[in-house]
Amino acid sequence: AAASKSFDAKASATWKTGEPVPYGALAEAFDRISATSKRLEKTEIMMETFRVVISTTPEDLLPIAYLATCSIAPPHEGIELGIGDATLIKCLSESTGRTEKTVKQDMKQEADLGKVAMMSRSSQRTMFQPKPLTVRQVFQDFKTIALTEGKDSMDRKKKIIKKLLTSSKKSEATYVVRALQGSLRIGASEQTILSALARAALWEKGEVDAASDESIASSEDAALKVMKKVFSECPSLDKIVPAMMEHGVADLPNHCKFTVGVPVSPMLAKPTTGVHEVLEKFTDTEFTCEYKYDGERAQLHYEGGKLKIFSRNAEDNTEKYPEIRTEILPKSLRETTENVVLDGEVVAYDRETKQILPFQNLQRRKRKDVSEEDLKKQATVCYFAFDCLYYNGTSLLQSTLVERRKALREACQEREGLFFFATDKTSDDLDELQVFLDDAIEAKTEGLIVKTVDSTYEPSQRSVNWLKLKKDYMEGIGDSLDLVVVGAWHGKGKRKGWYGNYLLACYNEDNEEYEIVSKIGTGLTEEELDVVKKQLDPHKIDGPCSYYKFKEGSRNEPDVWFDAQVVWEVKVANLTLSPHYLAAFGSVESGKGISLRFPRYERTRDDRTPTSATTSDQLQEMYENQPEAGASRGNGGDFS
Ligand code: ATP
Repeated sequence: AAASKSFDAKASATWKTGEPVPYGALAEAFDRISATSKRLEKTEIMMETFRVVISTTPEDLLPIAYLATCSIAPPHEGIELGIGDATLIKCLSESTGRTEKTVKQDMKQEADLGKVAMMSRSSQRTMFQPKPLTVRQVFQDFKTIALTEGKDSMDRKKKIIKKLLTSSKKSEATYVVRALQGSLRIGASEQTILSALARAALWEKGEVDAASDESIASSEDAALKVMKKVFSECPSLDKIVPAMMEHGVADLPNHCKFTVGVPVSPMLAKPTTGVHEVLEKFTDTEFTCEYKYDGERAQLHYEGGKLKIFSRNAEDNTEKYPEIRTEILPKSLRETTENVVLDGEVVAYDRETKQILPFQNLQRRKRKDVSEEDLKKQATVCYFAFDCLYYNGTSLLQSTLVERRKALREACQEREGLFFFATDKTSDDLDELQVFLDDAIEAKTEGLIVKTVDSTYEPSQRSVNWLKLKKDYMEGIGDSLDLVVVGAWHGKGKRKGWYGNYLLACYNEDNEEYEIVSKIGTGLTEEELDVVKKQLDPHKIDGPCSYYKFKEGSRNEPDVWFDAQVVWEVKVANLTLSPHYLAAFGSVESGKGISLRFPRYERTRDDRTPTSATTSDQLQEMYENQPEAGASRGNGGDFS
């Protein structure tokens, strides 16, 4: 905080006021961010960069915010970069005059096309000095690349990429290439960038109470809270950045509100190990239970006859479930409903037997080039609505669950086989709850979600106001884990040509690091071995990222490392303590981390980003809550 006080943004600028911000300045900030593993330092570097931009060329703040979060549009717009390595290698070769073969050889050594791009550039002499890159131009070029489609689109994209590469100096080429690949790999999450943005605006808009270090800290804290809340209710930099520049941070909530068409990050539930734990947690609180349907989370945004369906990650799933638009919603919305946002689950459903079908039936749905009829042949779906977030012009995020359920019933009606309200029951009797849980399992759901009745909707929070009670509970840890695949060992024998074992990590939110938690080798069919290899190989990197935490020189160093991209759902017998793993290290017992006992691959979670994987804190909580935590303490083994 004291450093922020003395920082003179204008004097630190390396470009003139009003001039476009050079891309080199941003690349240099990225270099510095990569060089430190401390989150506070990362935030500080990004904050200073934002401050300089605000005080000199504020119109470049939005492109920089996008470039720093490695995105070009709000997630729900579905405009993404993601150029394949083969194309990038071609561009690199054509723009530097090196053969594709040499570029590929370098790739083998470096395994980071970004670095190869930088090396290729620095060894190249050019006759003409190309104009230096600016952030607004790079951003515009990225957007054009992402939006180019149709005939010759690949050639047109390649032309822009080659021009970008030819103009890149020093590490600029590294970040251009990595951004095009879809991951910057500087170890700064969206949260870091957002907090840097909020703090920068606070200082430059004169909103800080700079009387003392304490008052500075409390102004900054308040700003972070506001930013977090605003971003979870209105996840659009397009809206937030201009509003922040005009009205400052404190007033942001009045200008960036939840609206139909822009999905909120969904509220999530915490695991519990049984009815007893629920009753203990909610001793003095009124609660209600609902079936926990096993399908795909879907936020339905309806207005003026138009519908958009958003996934848990704000991806546009409207085309994936056309029957919701053409049949399900038209039949279940009441005439008086002008606009509404529903939260619920799309579930595979057999309309003849009136049975819920397993989740796997939904996975067969391919998104593109399939007619509605073909989709239906793969599995008919039914929508189970459990929440209403917006109704006829009013946001209900601040309303209680009771009020939201009332609105849900006002807005829609049930239609057999198409649209149901989540089955619910309100009781605090242990036996009754146990029976209801059994009913839920009988009805082919995963168990129950227990919700406090007077709580508001908490976007993006894994809240104590929603507890999940699953069938696999009773023993074990109450839930499966979602872990990031960061490495693998080559397979032998029957698994030759594939990977034999994989290395998994959980996510530490506090320092934004991936902590190695276990090896895994079981649960994959031959077909899956092939699929996961194809899925993982594009993410190979030359060594562990600086933000991977593992015991060096130990048996936990894999043959191949991967960029943190792919998330797997993993079932375990229980959690155990081990000196060989650094997940939640020392949190339960000094010198030991938490590891998995008998982990089994369940499925790939396409709907999960690495930063929304199971966190170290969750792991610790699950460890402490597992029955007889003491029993698995201190055996120090690696049971994978
Ligand atoms: P899991 O891995 O347990 O399926 P998750 O990790 O995707 O869940 P959680 O927060 O653990 O997310 O569980 C909540 C999920 O359960 C929601 O995202 C939603 O998709 C699903 N769900 C099914 N029925 C309900 C319900 N009645 N209320 C809330 N969520 C429900």
